[in-house]
Amino acid sequence: MARTFDGMYVGGSWAATTRTFSDYNPSDGSVWAEVPDAGRLEARAAIDAAQAAFHDWSETPFNHRAEYMLKAAEILERRRADIVAAIQAEGGGWFGKGMFEVGLAKDVFLSAAAAGYAPIGDVMPSEHNKISLAVRRPMGVVSVISPWNVPLVLTSRGMAFAMTAGNTIVLKPSEETPYCGGLLFAEIFEEAGLPSGVLNVVTCSRETVGEVGDELIENPLVKGISFTGSTPVGRQIAAKAGAHLKKCCVELGGKDALIVCDDADMERATSAASFGSFMHQGQICMSVEKLLVQEGIYDEFLRRFVERAAKLKVGDTTKDQAHVIGPLINDRQARKVKAQIDDAVAKGAHLALGGGVEGRFVHPTILTNVTPDMAVYRDETFGPVVPVIPFRSDEEAVAIANDSMYGLSSGVITTDERRGLAIAEQLETGMCHINCSPVNDEPHAPFGGTKSSGVGRHGGMWAMETFTETRWITLDRGGRHYPPVF
Ligand code: NAD
Repeated sequence: MARTFDGMYVGGSWAATTRTFSDYNPSDGSVWAEVPDAGRLEARAAIDAAQAAFHDWSETPFNHRAEYMLKAAEILERRRADIVAAIQAEGGGWFGKGMFEVGLAKDVFLSAAAAGYAPIGDVMPSEHNKISLAVRRPMGVVSVISPWNVPLVLTSRGMAFAMTAGNTIVLKPSEETPYCGGLLFAEIFEEAGLPSGVLNVVTCSRETVGEVGDELIENPLVKGISFTGSTPVGRQIAAKAGAHLKKCCVELGGKDALIVCDDADMERATSAASFGSFMHQGQICMSVEKLLVQEGIYDEFLRRFVERAAKLKVGDTTKDQAHVIGPLINDRQARKVKAQIDDAVAKGAHLALGGGVEGRFVHPTILTNVTPDMAVYRDETFGPVVPVIPFRSDEEAVAIANDSMYGLSSGVITTDERRGLAIAEQLETGMCHINCSPVNDEPHAPFGGTKSSGVGRHGGMWAMETFTETRWITLDRGGRHYPPVF
Protein backbone atom coordinates (compact mmCIF):
# COMPACT_ATOMS: atom_id res chain seq x y z
CA MET A 1 0.00 0.00 0.00
CA ALA A 2 1.39 3.37 -1.00
CA ARG A 3 2.06 5.78 1.82
CA THR A 4 -0.11 8.94 1.88
CA PHE A 5 0.20 12.25 3.71
CA ASP A 6 -2.30 14.62 5.30
CA GLY A 7 -0.84 17.43 3.23
CA MET A 8 2.17 19.68 3.03
CA TYR A 9 3.57 21.26 6.15
CA VAL A 10 2.77 24.97 6.22
CA GLY A 11 2.61 27.25 9.26
CA GLY A 12 2.83 24.31 11.65
CA SER A 13 -0.05 22.29 10.21
CA TRP A 14 -0.59 19.77 7.47
CA ALA A 15 -2.32 21.59 4.62
CA ALA A 16 -4.29 19.33 2.25
CA THR A 17 -3.94 19.81 -1.52
CA THR A 18 -6.36 18.81 -4.23
CA ARG A 19 -3.67 17.21 -6.40
CA THR A 20 -1.10 14.52 -5.65
CA PHE A 21 1.73 12.88 -7.59
CA SER A 22 3.28 9.42 -7.40
CA ASP A 23 6.62 8.79 -5.72
CA TYR A 24 8.17 5.60 -7.17
CA ASN A 25 10.45 2.95 -5.71
CA PRO A 26 13.20 2.78 -8.36
CA SER A 27 14.07 -0.86 -7.55
CA ASP A 28 10.74 -2.32 -8.67
CA GLY A 29 8.85 0.64 -10.16
CA SER A 30 6.02 0.39 -7.59
CA VAL A 31 4.34 3.51 -6.22
CA TRP A 32 5.87 4.05 -2.79
CA ALA A 33 3.85 7.13 -1.84
CA GLU A 34 1.24 9.57 -3.10
CA VAL A 35 2.49 13.05 -2.35
CA PRO A 36 0.81 16.50 -2.31
CA ASP A 37 1.43 18.40 -5.56
CA ALA A 38 1.74 22.12 -4.89
CA GLY A 39 1.36 25.01 -7.30
CA ARG A 40 2.37 28.64 -7.06
CA LEU A 41 -0.38 29.55 -4.58
CA GLU A 42 0.67 26.90 -2.08
CA ALA A 43 4.29 28.03 -2.39
CA ARG A 44 3.17 31.61 -1.68
CA ALA A 45 1.23 30.47 1.41
CA ALA A 46 4.35 28.70 2.71
CA ILE A 47 6.45 31.83 2.18
CA ASP A 48 3.84 33.93 4.01
CA ALA A 49 3.92 31.46 6.92
CA ALA A 50 7.72 31.61 7.04
CA GLN A 51 7.67 35.41 6.99
CA ALA A 52 5.09 35.50 9.80
CA ALA A 53 7.40 33.35 11.94
CA PHE A 54 10.59 35.25 11.14
CA HIS A 55 10.52 38.05 13.73
CA ASP A 56 10.01 35.84 16.76
CA TRP A 57 12.41 33.17 15.53
CA SER A 58 15.19 35.65 14.82
CA GLU A 59 14.69 37.09 18.33
CA THR A 60 14.69 33.66 19.97
CA PRO A 61 17.90 33.28 22.00
CA PHE A 62 20.58 31.53 19.97
CA ASN A 63 20.92 28.68 22.47
CA HIS A 64 17.20 27.94 22.27
CA ARG A 65 17.42 27.83 18.47
CA ALA A 66 20.37 25.45 18.78
CA GLU A 67 18.33 23.20 21.06
CA TYR A 68 15.88 22.42 18.26
CA MET A 69 18.80 21.24 16.15
CA LEU A 70 19.91 18.93 18.99
CA LYS A 71 16.37 17.56 19.23
CA ALA A 72 16.32 16.92 15.46
CA ALA A 73 19.61 15.01 15.80
CA GLU A 74 18.14 12.92 18.62
CA ILE A 75 15.00 12.09 16.63
CA LEU A 76 17.05 11.13 13.56
CA GLU A 77 19.07 8.71 15.68
CA ARG A 78 15.99 7.22 17.35
CA ARG A 79 14.24 6.74 14.00
CA ARG A 80 17.36 5.48 12.21
CA ALA A 81 15.90 2.11 11.18
CA ASP A 82 12.68 3.42 9.65
CA ILE A 83 14.51 6.30 7.95
CA VAL A 84 17.11 3.96 6.41
CA ALA A 85 14.26 1.80 5.06
CA ALA A 86 12.60 4.89 3.55
CA ILE A 87 15.85 6.10 1.99
CA GLN A 88 16.31 2.68 0.38
CA ALA A 89 12.74 2.41 -0.86
CA GLU A 90 12.51 5.97 -2.18
CA GLY A 91 16.02 6.35 -3.58
CA GLY A 92 17.21 2.80 -4.31
CA GLY A 93 20.46 3.03 -2.36
CA TRP A 94 22.44 0.37 -0.54
CA PHE A 95 21.78 -0.24 3.18
CA GLY A 96 25.25 1.11 4.09
CA LYS A 97 24.54 4.34 2.22
CA GLY A 98 21.33 4.78 4.20
CA MET A 99 23.13 4.20 7.52
CA PHE A 100 25.86 6.65 6.55
CA GLU A 101 23.29 9.20 5.45
CA VAL A 102 21.37 9.20 8.73
CA GLY A 103 24.65 9.50 10.64
CA LEU A 104 25.86 12.43 8.56
CA ALA A 105 22.49 14.22 8.65
CA LYS A 106 22.56 13.89 12.44
CA ASP A 107 26.07 15.38 12.48
CA VAL A 108 24.88 18.27 10.32
CA PHE A 109 22.33 19.20 13.00
CA LEU A 110 24.87 18.78 15.81
CA SER A 111 27.35 20.91 13.90
CA ALA A 112 24.70 23.57 13.20
CA ALA A 113 23.85 23.68 16.92
CA ALA A 114 27.55 24.20 17.70
CA ALA A 115 27.83 26.90 15.02
CA GLY A 116 25.06 28.76 16.82
CA TYR A 117 27.45 29.31 19.75
CA ALA A 118 30.23 30.80 17.62
CA PRO A 119 30.90 34.57 17.46
CA ILE A 120 28.57 36.41 15.10
CA GLY A 121 30.95 39.14 14.06
CA ASP A 122 34.08 41.19 14.64
CA VAL A 123 35.12 44.30 16.53
CA MET A 124 37.24 46.56 14.33
CA PRO A 125 39.57 49.41 15.16
CA SER A 126 38.08 52.78 14.19
CA GLU A 127 39.79 55.90 12.83
CA HIS A 128 37.49 57.93 15.06
CA ASN A 129 37.72 55.78 18.11
CA LYS A 130 34.18 54.55 17.58
CA ILE A 131 32.96 51.18 18.64
CA SER A 132 32.90 49.55 15.21
CA LEU A 133 31.17 46.22 14.75
CA ALA A 134 30.65 43.81 11.88
CA VAL A 135 27.58 41.82 12.87
CA ARG A 136 25.96 38.90 11.10
CA ARG A 137 22.18 39.06 11.09
CA PRO A 138 19.64 36.56 9.74
CA MET A 139 18.23 37.46 6.34
CA GLY A 140 14.57 36.42 6.64
CA VAL A 141 12.89 33.70 4.58
CA VAL A 142 15.33 31.30 2.90
CA SER A 143 14.17 28.94 0.13
CA VAL A 144 15.86 25.54 0.18
CA ILE A 145 15.66 23.42 -2.99
CA SER A 146 17.31 20.02 -2.64
CA PRO A 147 18.14 17.03 -4.91
CA TRP A 148 17.30 13.33 -4.61
CA ASN A 149 20.66 11.61 -4.55
CA VAL A 150 21.53 12.08 -0.86
CA PRO A 151 18.25 13.71 0.19
CA LEU A 152 18.60 13.56 3.95
CA VAL A 153 22.06 15.09 4.07
CA LEU A 154 21.61 17.68 1.36
CA THR A 155 18.32 18.94 2.77
CA SER A 156 19.77 19.02 6.30
CA ARG A 157 22.82 20.90 5.07
CA GLY A 158 20.67 23.39 3.14
CA MET A 159 18.53 24.36 6.11
CA ALA A 160 20.16 23.50 9.47
CA PHE A 161 22.72 26.33 9.58
CA ALA A 162 20.31 28.80 7.98
CA MET A 163 17.70 28.02 10.65
CA THR A 164 20.20 28.17 13.49
CA ALA A 165 21.29 31.59 12.25
CA GLY A 166 17.69 32.81 12.76
CA ASN A 167 16.20 32.49 9.27
CA THR A 168 12.92 30.76 8.53
CA ILE A 169 12.68 28.16 5.79
CA VAL A 170 10.55 27.06 2.88
CA LEU A 171 11.85 23.68 1.79
CA LYS A 172 11.12 22.14 -1.58
CA PRO A 173 12.55 18.63 -1.92
CA SER A 174 13.08 16.77 -5.17
CA GLU A 175 10.03 15.11 -6.73
CA GLU A 176 12.06 11.84 -6.61
CA THR A 177 12.49 11.95 -2.82
CA PRO A 178 9.72 14.17 -1.47
CA TYR A 179 9.62 12.23 1.79
CA CYS A 180 13.30 11.73 2.72
CA GLY A 181 14.25 15.17 1.47
CA GLY A 182 11.12 16.98 2.67
CA LEU A 183 8.10 15.70 4.57
CA LEU A 184 10.27 13.63 6.91
CA PHE A 185 11.78 16.89 8.20
CA ALA A 186 8.29 18.25 8.84
CA GLU A 187 7.63 15.16 10.99
CA ILE A 188 10.93 15.55 12.82
CA PHE A 189 10.57 19.24 13.61
CA GLU A 190 6.89 18.89 14.49
CA GLU A 191 7.95 16.31 17.07
CA ALA A 192 10.78 18.59 18.20
CA GLY A 193 8.19 21.31 18.92
CA LEU A 194 9.67 23.87 16.52
CA PRO A 195 7.53 27.03 16.52
CA SER A 196 4.96 27.14 13.69
CA GLY A 197 6.17 28.54 10.39
CA VAL A 198 9.91 28.30 11.07
CA LEU A 199 10.07 25.30 8.72
CA ASN A 200 7.57 24.86 5.90
CA VAL A 201 7.68 22.02 3.39
CA VAL A 202 6.18 22.30 -0.09
CA THR A 203 6.22 19.22 -2.35
CA CYS A 204 5.53 19.30 -6.07
CA SER A 205 5.88 17.26 -9.25
CA ARG A 206 8.19 17.99 -12.19
CA GLU A 207 5.12 19.47 -13.96
CA THR A 208 4.64 22.28 -11.45
CA VAL A 209 8.23 22.76 -10.30
CA GLY A 210 8.77 25.66 -12.70
CA GLU A 211 6.05 27.84 -11.17
CA VAL A 212 6.81 26.73 -7.59
CA GLY A 213 10.53 27.36 -8.16
CA ASP A 214 9.87 30.81 -9.60
CA GLU A 215 7.78 31.76 -6.57
CA LEU A 216 10.51 30.52 -4.22
CA ILE A 217 12.94 32.92 -5.88
CA GLU A 218 10.89 35.89 -7.06
CA ASN A 219 8.60 36.42 -4.06
CA PRO A 220 9.83 39.67 -2.44
CA LEU A 221 9.65 38.08 1.03
CA VAL A 222 12.32 35.52 0.07
CA LYS A 223 15.74 36.88 0.92
CA GLY A 224 18.05 33.94 0.26
CA ILE A 225 18.15 30.77 -1.83
CA SER A 226 19.97 27.52 -1.15
CA PHE A 227 19.94 25.30 -4.22
CA THR A 228 21.63 21.92 -4.65
CA GLY A 229 21.15 20.12 -7.94
CA SER A 230 22.22 19.97 -11.57
CA THR A 231 24.22 22.66 -13.33
CA PRO A 232 21.57 23.46 -16.00
CA VAL A 233 18.84 24.05 -13.38
CA GLY A 234 21.28 25.79 -11.02
CA ARG A 235 22.27 28.22 -13.76
CA GLN A 236 18.62 29.21 -14.23
CA ILE A 237 18.11 29.57 -10.48
CA ALA A 238 21.24 31.72 -10.08
CA ALA A 239 20.24 33.89 -13.07
CA LYS A 240 16.77 34.49 -11.64
CA ALA A 241 18.16 35.18 -8.17
CA GLY A 242 20.65 37.60 -9.73
CA ALA A 243 17.89 39.44 -11.57
CA HIS A 244 16.17 39.94 -8.21
CA LEU A 245 19.49 40.74 -6.47
CA LYS A 246 19.08 37.92 -3.99
CA LYS A 247 21.80 36.05 -2.20
CA CYS A 248 22.04 32.57 -3.65
CA CYS A 249 24.19 29.54 -2.89
CA VAL A 250 24.18 27.00 -5.72
CA GLU A 251 25.91 23.62 -5.29
CA LEU A 252 25.93 21.89 -8.68
CA GLY A 253 27.26 19.01 -10.76
CA GLY A 254 30.78 17.67 -11.09
CA LYS A 255 33.22 15.69 -13.23
CA ASP A 256 35.69 14.84 -10.52
CA ALA A 257 39.09 13.33 -11.21
CA LEU A 258 41.01 10.91 -9.04
CA ILE A 259 44.72 11.03 -9.87
CA VAL A 260 46.71 7.88 -9.08
CA CYS A 261 50.47 8.54 -9.09
CA ASP A 262 53.06 5.85 -9.82
CA ASP A 263 54.19 5.77 -6.16
CA ALA A 264 50.65 5.06 -4.91
CA ASP A 265 49.79 2.31 -2.47
CA MET A 266 47.86 0.02 -4.81
CA GLU A 267 45.40 -1.22 -2.19
CA ARG A 268 44.54 2.36 -1.19
CA ALA A 269 44.32 3.46 -4.82
CA THR A 270 41.99 0.70 -6.00
CA SER A 271 39.71 0.95 -2.96
CA ALA A 272 39.49 4.77 -3.28
CA ALA A 273 38.72 4.32 -6.99
CA SER A 274 36.06 1.67 -6.37
CA PHE A 275 34.33 3.57 -3.54
CA GLY A 276 34.59 6.89 -5.40
CA SER A 277 33.28 5.53 -8.70
CA PHE A 278 30.58 3.11 -7.59
CA MET A 279 29.21 4.18 -4.18
CA HIS A 280 25.49 4.82 -4.69
CA GLN A 281 25.83 3.78 -8.35
CA GLY A 282 28.00 6.83 -9.00
CA GLN A 283 25.08 9.13 -8.19
CA ILE A 284 27.10 11.44 -5.95
CA CYS A 285 28.10 14.93 -7.08
CA MET A 286 31.71 14.12 -6.03
CA SER A 287 31.84 10.68 -7.68
CA VAL A 288 35.02 9.80 -9.55
CA GLU A 289 34.16 10.51 -13.19
CA LYS A 290 37.72 10.51 -14.57
CA LEU A 291 40.27 8.11 -13.18
CA LEU A 292 43.77 9.22 -14.18
CA VAL A 293 46.51 6.64 -13.68
CA GLN A 294 50.24 7.13 -14.27
CA GLU A 295 51.66 5.06 -17.13
CA GLY A 296 54.15 2.93 -15.15
CA ILE A 297 51.40 1.38 -12.97
CA TYR A 298 48.49 1.61 -15.41
CA ASP A 299 48.27 -2.09 -16.34
CA GLU A 300 48.61 -3.39 -12.80
CA PHE A 301 46.19 -0.80 -11.45
CA LEU A 302 43.59 -1.62 -14.11
CA ARG A 303 43.83 -5.35 -13.46
CA ARG A 304 43.39 -4.93 -9.71
CA PHE A 305 40.66 -2.29 -10.05
CA VAL A 306 38.63 -4.48 -12.43
CA GLU A 307 39.07 -7.45 -10.08
CA ARG A 308 37.78 -5.39 -7.15
CA ALA A 309 34.85 -3.80 -8.97
CA ALA A 310 33.74 -7.13 -10.47
CA LYS A 311 32.86 -8.29 -6.94
CA LEU A 312 30.22 -5.57 -6.41
CA LYS A 313 26.78 -7.16 -6.42
CA VAL A 314 23.96 -5.57 -8.42
CA GLY A 315 20.30 -5.89 -7.38
CA ASP A 316 17.33 -4.64 -5.39
CA THR A 317 18.95 -3.12 -2.31
CA THR A 318 15.83 -3.58 -0.17
CA LYS A 319 15.91 -7.37 -0.70
CA ASP A 320 19.52 -8.09 0.21
CA GLN A 321 22.15 -6.05 2.08
CA ALA A 322 24.81 -7.63 -0.14
CA HIS A 323 23.35 -5.72 -3.10
CA VAL A 324 25.70 -2.74 -3.08
CA ILE A 325 24.76 -1.48 -6.55
CA GLY A 326 21.07 -0.63 -6.74
CA PRO A 327 19.03 0.94 -9.50
CA LEU A 328 19.54 4.39 -10.94
CA ILE A 329 16.87 6.80 -9.76
CA ASN A 330 14.70 6.72 -12.91
CA ASP A 331 14.48 5.55 -16.53
CA ARG A 332 15.61 8.94 -17.86
CA GLN A 333 18.87 8.68 -15.92
CA ALA A 334 19.41 5.03 -16.98
CA ARG A 335 18.91 6.00 -20.63
CA LYS A 336 21.40 8.87 -20.30
CA VAL A 337 24.06 6.61 -18.77
CA LYS A 338 23.50 3.91 -21.43
CA ALA A 339 23.78 6.55 -24.17
CA GLN A 340 27.17 7.63 -22.77
CA ILE A 341 28.44 4.03 -22.71
CA ASP A 342 27.18 3.42 -26.28
CA ASP A 343 28.70 6.69 -27.52
CA ALA A 344 32.09 5.83 -25.99
CA VAL A 345 32.12 2.29 -27.41
CA ALA A 346 31.03 3.51 -30.85
CA LYS A 347 33.94 5.97 -30.82
CA GLY A 348 36.52 3.31 -29.91
CA ALA A 349 36.46 2.92 -26.11
CA HIS A 350 36.97 -0.59 -24.65
CA LEU A 351 34.83 -2.12 -21.94
CA ALA A 352 37.30 -3.39 -19.32
CA LEU A 353 34.31 -4.31 -17.13
CA GLY A 354 30.53 -4.16 -17.30
CA GLY A 355 28.54 -2.26 -19.87
CA GLY A 356 25.36 -4.17 -19.04
CA VAL A 357 22.16 -2.21 -18.49
CA GLU A 358 18.99 -4.00 -17.36
CA GLY A 359 16.18 -1.51 -16.97
CA ARG A 360 17.35 0.95 -14.31
CA PHE A 361 20.18 -1.35 -13.14
CA VAL A 362 23.57 -0.49 -14.65
CA HIS A 363 26.48 -2.82 -13.93
CA PRO A 364 29.73 -1.25 -12.69
CA THR A 365 31.44 -0.22 -15.90
CA ILE A 366 35.11 0.56 -16.49
CA LEU A 367 36.13 2.08 -19.83
CA THR A 368 39.58 2.42 -21.39
CA ASN A 369 40.74 4.15 -24.60
CA VAL A 370 38.51 7.09 -23.74
CA THR A 371 39.16 10.26 -25.73
CA PRO A 372 38.01 13.89 -25.31
CA ASP A 373 35.45 13.62 -28.12
CA MET A 374 33.37 11.17 -26.05
CA ALA A 375 30.47 12.37 -23.89
CA VAL A 376 31.74 10.26 -20.97
CA TYR A 377 34.97 12.30 -20.92
CA ARG A 378 33.21 15.67 -20.76
CA ASP A 379 29.65 15.39 -19.40
CA GLU A 380 28.60 14.44 -15.90
CA THR A 381 27.58 10.74 -16.03
CA PHE A 382 25.97 10.28 -12.58
CA GLY A 383 26.08 6.50 -12.97
CA PRO A 384 28.43 3.59 -12.15
CA VAL A 385 30.71 4.25 -15.13
CA VAL A 386 34.32 5.39 -15.01
CA PRO A 387 36.92 5.97 -17.71
CA VAL A 388 40.51 5.05 -16.78
CA ILE A 389 42.90 7.41 -18.59
CA PRO A 390 46.71 7.11 -18.57
CA PHE A 391 49.01 10.10 -17.94
CA ARG A 392 52.78 10.58 -18.13
CA SER A 393 53.63 13.54 -15.86
CA ASP A 394 51.96 15.37 -12.98
CA GLU A 395 51.52 18.38 -15.31
CA GLU A 396 49.61 16.22 -17.75
CA ALA A 397 47.41 14.78 -14.98
CA VAL A 398 46.56 18.29 -13.78
CA ALA A 399 45.79 19.39 -17.36
CA ILE A 400 43.43 16.45 -17.98
CA ALA A 401 41.73 16.92 -14.59
CA ASN A 402 41.25 20.65 -15.24
CA ASP A 403 39.97 20.05 -18.77
CA SER A 404 36.37 20.36 -17.59
CA MET A 405 33.77 23.05 -17.12
CA TYR A 406 33.22 21.58 -13.65
CA GLY A 407 35.35 22.09 -10.54
CA LEU A 408 33.77 20.41 -7.52
CA SER A 409 36.12 17.95 -5.79
CA SER A 410 39.18 15.86 -6.65
CA GLY A 411 41.54 13.26 -5.20
CA VAL A 412 45.24 12.44 -5.47
CA ILE A 413 46.76 9.12 -4.41
CA THR A 414 50.49 9.25 -3.72
CA THR A 415 52.83 8.20 -0.94
CA ASP A 416 54.71 11.51 -1.39
CA GLU A 417 52.74 14.09 0.62
CA ARG A 418 54.63 17.02 -0.91
CA ARG A 419 53.81 15.84 -4.40
CA GLY A 420 50.16 15.41 -3.39
CA LEU A 421 49.96 18.94 -2.02
CA ALA A 422 51.69 20.37 -5.13
CA ILE A 423 49.11 18.69 -7.38
CA ALA A 424 46.24 19.74 -5.10
CA GLU A 425 47.36 23.38 -5.36
CA GLN A 426 46.98 23.28 -9.14
CA LEU A 427 43.59 21.61 -9.41
CA GLU A 428 40.72 23.97 -10.25
CA THR A 429 38.31 22.46 -7.73
CA GLY A 430 36.67 23.74 -4.57
CA MET A 431 37.86 20.66 -2.66
CA CYS A 432 40.76 18.23 -2.98
CA HIS A 433 41.54 15.16 -0.87
CA ILE A 434 45.01 13.64 -0.86
CA ASN A 435 45.20 9.89 -0.41
CA CYS A 436 41.44 9.71 -0.52
CA SER A 437 38.60 9.60 -3.02
CA PRO A 438 37.00 12.95 -3.93
CA VAL A 439 33.86 11.84 -2.03
CA ASN A 440 34.22 13.58 1.34
CA ASP A 441 31.76 15.55 3.42
CA GLU A 442 32.12 16.76 6.99
CA PRO A 443 29.49 19.18 8.23
CA HIS A 444 31.88 21.75 9.69
CA ALA A 445 34.19 21.97 6.65
CA PRO A 446 33.78 24.33 3.66
CA PHE A 447 31.88 22.43 0.99
CA GLY A 448 31.47 23.77 -2.53
CA GLY A 449 32.80 24.03 -6.04
CA THR A 450 34.37 26.37 -8.55
CA LYS A 451 33.63 26.95 -12.26
CA SER A 452 30.28 25.38 -13.27
CA SER A 453 30.08 23.37 -10.04
CA GLY A 454 28.59 26.29 -8.21
CA VAL A 455 28.94 29.43 -6.16
CA GLY A 456 28.96 29.65 -2.37
CA ARG A 457 29.92 27.37 0.49
CA HIS A 458 28.06 25.14 2.90
CA GLY A 459 29.42 23.83 6.19
CA GLY A 460 30.16 25.26 9.64
CA MET A 461 31.10 28.93 9.82
CA TRP A 462 31.02 29.18 6.01
CA ALA A 463 27.34 28.24 6.03
CA MET A 464 26.66 30.78 8.78
CA GLU A 465 28.22 33.41 6.55
CA THR A 466 26.29 32.22 3.48
CA PHE A 467 22.95 32.49 5.25
CA THR A 468 23.41 35.83 7.02
CA GLU A 469 23.88 39.47 6.04
CA THR A 470 26.90 41.18 7.53
CA ARG A 471 26.07 44.64 8.84
CA TRP A 472 28.50 47.38 9.89
CA ILE A 473 27.33 49.11 13.05
CA THR A 474 29.28 51.89 14.75
CA LEU A 475 28.84 53.83 17.97
CA ASP A 476 30.43 57.30 18.01
CA ARG A 477 31.55 58.73 21.33
CA GLY A 478 32.47 62.18 20.08
CA GLY A 479 35.56 61.13 18.15
CA ARG A 480 34.41 62.02 14.65
CA HIS A 481 34.57 65.69 13.70
CA TYR A 482 32.82 67.10 10.62
CA PRO A 483 34.33 69.90 8.51
CA PRO A 484 33.49 73.16 10.39
CA VAL A 485 31.71 74.58 7.32
CA PHE A 486 28.88 72.14 8.12
P1 NAD B 1 17.95 18.76 -10.61
O1 NAD B 1 18.66 20.02 -10.96
O2 NAD B 1 17.15 18.09 -11.67
O3 NAD B 1 16.93 19.03 -9.42
C1 NAD B 1 17.36 19.62 -8.21
C2 NAD B 1 16.20 20.29 -7.54
O4 NAD B 1 15.76 21.36 -8.37
C3 NAD B 1 14.99 19.38 -7.37
O5 NAD B 1 14.35 19.68 -6.15
C4 NAD B 1 14.09 19.77 -8.53
O6 NAD B 1 12.73 19.54 -8.30
C5 NAD B 1 14.37 21.26 -8.58
N1 NAD B 1 14.03 21.92 -9.84
C6 NAD B 1 14.02 21.41 -11.09
N2 NAD B 1 13.64 22.36 -11.97
C7 NAD B 1 13.44 23.49 -11.26
C8 NAD B 1 13.04 24.83 -11.59
N3 NAD B 1 12.78 25.18 -12.85
N4 NAD B 1 12.93 25.73 -10.59
C9 NAD B 1 13.19 25.39 -9.31
N5 NAD B 1 13.57 24.15 -8.94
C10 NAD B 1 13.69 23.22 -9.90
O7 NAD B 1 19.04 17.79 -9.99
P2 NAD B 1 18.83 16.33 -9.44
O8 NAD B 1 18.67 15.41 -10.59
O9 NAD B 1 17.79 16.33 -8.37
O10 NAD B 1 20.24 16.06 -8.71
C11 NAD B 1 21.35 15.58 -9.38
C12 NAD B 1 22.30 16.70 -9.69
O11 NAD B 1 22.62 17.42 -8.51
C13 NAD B 1 23.63 16.23 -10.24
O12 NAD B 1 24.04 17.08 -11.27
C14 NAD B 1 24.57 16.35 -9.05
O13 NAD B 1 25.92 16.48 -9.38
C15 NAD B 1 24.03 17.55 -8.37
N6 NAD B 1 24.38 17.57 -6.96
C16 NAD B 1 25.26 18.50 -6.51
C17 NAD B 1 25.65 18.51 -5.17
C18 NAD B 1 26.64 19.51 -4.64
O14 NAD B 1 26.72 19.67 -3.43
N7 NAD B 1 27.42 20.17 -5.47
C19 NAD B 1 25.12 17.56 -4.30
C20 NAD B 1 24.23 16.63 -4.81
C21 NAD B 1 23.85 16.65 -6.12
